[in-house]
Amino acid sequence: MDLTKFVAIVPDYPKQGIVFKDITPLMGDGEAYKYATDQIVAYAKDKDIDIIVGPEARGFIIGCPVAYSLGVGFAPVRKEGKLPRETVKVSYGLEYGTDVLTIHKDAIKPGQRVLITDDLLATGGTIDATIKLVEQLGGVVAGIAFIIELTYLNGRSKLDDYDILTLMQY
Ligand code: 5GP
Repeated sequence: MDLTKFVAIVPDYPKQGIVFKDITPLMGDGEAYKYATDQIVAYAKDKDIDIIVGPEARGFIIGCPVAYSLGVGFAPVRKEGKLPRETVKVSYGLEYGTDVLTIHKDAIKPGQRVLITDDLLATGGTIDATIKLVEQLGGVVAGIAFIIELTYLNGRSKLDDYDILTLMQY
């Protein structure tokens, strides 16, 4: 299936000069959403995954159906202040300033094999921070799956040591 038909290209969002790739049409189409989910499930099948981890908010949309299909759990990564119990955190650089991502301290047990999911790989900053959280808890990043990769931003260069799946490249 050609998933590019289900990505809306939005110029100048969220600000001038950014060409946003909107995946809500993909999510809104049952067949396309299932097809994309099934591709990630097939990728994960032989990786002996114990748990899926995804950053808010679109990492949840990709990761939760994969977790359901594999019969494993899902652990959310959220912005600081959003998780109710004890967390570990990591700061990461944005274009202007920094942000903080957190995960519950007991979300992953040492040695558990983790699949990280998100909708889109741009500079790789979000996923790099998510990897750091998983590894702080002793998790093993067994794979990372994205719907879209923006190859011109070269986020992959931050992820040399990891096994990556991207379903579409721009
Ligand atoms: P990075 O940290 O790799 O630079 O940016 C990736 C993060 O920003 C992802 O969590 C993703 O949801 C969001 N993001 C950045 N650009 C886009 C875009 O064009 N489309 C979508 N859907 N998300 C984006």
